[in-house]
Amino acid sequence: MLNQPEYNILLVEDNPGHAALINRAFEAEAHHRLVITTSVQQAKLLINHSNPDLIITGVKLSDGSGTELLNLGSECPTIVMASYNDEKVAVNAIKSGAADYIVKTQETMASLPRTASRVMREWRLVLDQKLARERQQRLTAILEATPDLICIANLDGFLTYINQSGRDMLGIDCNDNIRQIRLADFHSPIESRKILGEGIPCAIREGIWTDETTFLALNGEKVLTSQVLISHKNNRGEIEFFSTIARDIRHLRAAEEQVEFLAYYDTLTGLPNRNELAKRLDMEVARVKRTHSFGSLLFIDLDNFKYINDSLGHPAGDLVLQEMAQRLQAHLRGDDTVARLGGDDFIVILSGLSEEGMEAVSQAREIANKIRDAIAMECRISDTELHVTASIGISMISQDETSGHDLLRFADTAMYQAKREGRNRLEFFSERMSSEVTRQLELENQLHRALKEDQFRLYYQPLVNDSMEIIGVEALIRWENPELGVVAPSEFLDVLESSGQIVEVGDWVIDTALKQMTLWIDQGLVESEFLLCINISPRQFRDSQFVDNIHSQLERIYLPSKNIIMEVTEHNIIHNLKDAILRMQELIQRGIRFSLDDFGTGYSSLAHLKNLPVSHIKIDRSFVKDICNDSGDQAMVASILALSKHLGLEVVAEGVEDLEQFHLLKQYGCEFYQGYYFSKPLSVNNMNDFLSTKQHTALHSSNSSPPGSATP
Ligand code: C2E
Ligand code: CA
Ligand code: CA
Repeated sequence: MLNQPEYNILLVEDNPGHAALINRAFEAEAHHRLVITTSVQQAKLLINHSNPDLIITGVKLSDGSGTELLNLGSECPTIVMASYNDEKVAVNAIKSGAADYIVKTQETMASLPRTASRVMREWRLVLDQKLARERQQRLTAILEATPDLICIANLDGFLTYINQSGRDMLGIDCNDNIRQIRLADFHSPIESRKILGEGIPCAIREGIWTDETTFLALNGEKVLTSQVLISHKNNRGEIEFFSTIARDIRHLRAAEEQVEFLAYYDTLTGLPNRNELAKRLDMEVARVKRTHSFGSLLFIDLDNFKYINDSLGHPAGDLVLQEMAQRLQAHLRGDDTVARLGGDDFIVILSGLSEEGMEAVSQAREIANKIRDAIAMECRISDTELHVTASIGISMISQDETSGHDLLRFADTAMYQAKREGRNRLEFFSERMSSEVTRQLELENQLHRALKEDQFRLYYQPLVNDSMEIIGVEALIRWENPELGVVAPSEFLDVLESSGQIVEVGDWVIDTALKQMTLWIDQGLVESEFLLCINISPRQFRDSQFVDNIHSQLERIYLPSKNIIMEVTEHNIIHNLKDAILRMQELIQRGIRFSLDDFGTGYSSLAHLKNLPVSHIKIDRSFVKDICNDSGDQAMVASILALSKHLGLEVVAEGVEDLEQFHLLKQYGCEFYQGYYFSKPLSVNNMNDFLSTKQHTALHSSNSSPPGSATP
């Protein structure tokens, strides 16, 4: 009895005798609590406040009819008590929602507790069924709303239920009789066999089976899904039915593939990238070992790509790369690979060449030449006709255990050789190149040490005017190697440049030269207009810190910047003209001036000159060398001088080695000179001597032999 709940029963009865009789009947029942009221109005209030579990009401009451309470107490059942000749009323009450009725007699009233229990039992049953129905409706609504296919199938595999998404996925019409449809009908025969042979046994054995499966929709579409198959048992442990949930994972897979693609392919050209290339190269090396037939690796670098990018912009550059990627692909055979390493570097792996070395080499050469020709074909990008060429380095893949990494390095070295030899050509890698690479690496290490151990020196070569008076110097670097002695910059500058060490060494040069110059001024050895010319390398000039470094160096050292001339070559600036000019202008604002070095050897359109913020140009040595004999050089020098005068530029002639050259240059209007005839580059000590003895004295004015000519 303890856990039997207590029921609140509201009795609405204005006949005191009846009420007392009923009350007595209920008092005998422990779990009923009876509240009695005599009026309809009060009953209404009580219903609102106390939520009775059952209402028992008479019909004709002093202030109204008990049937008024019927629709109020919809949460609980109502028993209507009719008087003896009032049965019609009672029947109507049932029609309008009463759970039951009694006709009042001594017996019916006395047995009301039993009637009440039955009514409440029945009511609860109805209520439970209603709740169950609602719950099922909610679950179905959820199933119908989920985007996954959900279905139930009987033991023969026929569907008994499939949700909307399932119907949509497979193309099942809502008028189709799903009981004649099996899920297996929507798989390929192979997939069906897998589900029957593996999926269902597993679901029976373990309750659940999951895998990726492909459904074939009625419209022919293939839907890749992640499928779950569940077996459902009754309480006797027998399987009653199966359910399946299948999620369309095509988007997911596409996204995964995209991620995979990005990791191994270049997005711009769709070609394999460095990662994928490394894999394929290893495969090719393994293949060569297995099959004995040679392979070949081509390192392809577009010659003028930087120029295209700079002049036409990056979008045009991208188009060129895409076009070249297509041309490369068009020239390859099935097993070959073309990849993009980044920038304008492409790699081609030629697979399955001859087993005979010389023949394989000529096959590689032939294909490489075809590729070179294909690249060189005219290319039209946004209304501009372009002529792109490529330099190609080739390394052969043989059985000699060379790693993919080394093969790439070899082909790269050969490609650089092709560039050095004049571009738009092929070069095979050779052992000689390999030793060259090794030598360069050694040199790089030695130069690193040279900077650390203070082995670099600056020499200074005088600059003179047309009266042969010294007006400045050019700082020229030397390497005092403990074993090799004084090493000229031509031996090591390229390596400094290609390794990037030039940035640091260049800083050292500027710092050292500026300090030396202040010293000379302090010592009174030079006048305040004395010029200091410093060579700036392309890499150094492009370095992002360059301008800032100069600013801070000038702040540390007291030296008027008008003394400083920076010598740059056209190579320095041509590649990114706009940026270069901006940099130059920043420094020009500080008072520094620029000189265009080696003029005449570069791209040298004279017309170009007027756009460059330079104040000096230096006519290259090569024009001065034969000026007395070569009329072409004479014409060139004469026109440079004429144009420069017109543009207000000062001209320095380099490499003046004899008096005759000097006289001729002077005759053409040249004003400044440099060369062995006046002095070779001098060490600091020699320069100090030179400055103290020759101060204010024109060179050669009293002396027939050039004073600096005996020194290095
Ligand atoms: P450059 O700037 O054209 O320097 C002139 C070169 O011509 C110097 O060679 C100089 O010794 C040489 N020279 C001067 N007068 C004559 C002459 O009458 N006849 C002949 N045959 N040669 C003469 P050097 O010192 O060997 O320097 C070679 C190049 O190395 C320089 O050419 C310059 O481009 C570069 N260089 C030198 N020092 C530095 C430096 O500190 N930084 C950078 N970035 N480059 C430097
Ligand atoms: Ca120079
Ligand atoms: Ca020069």
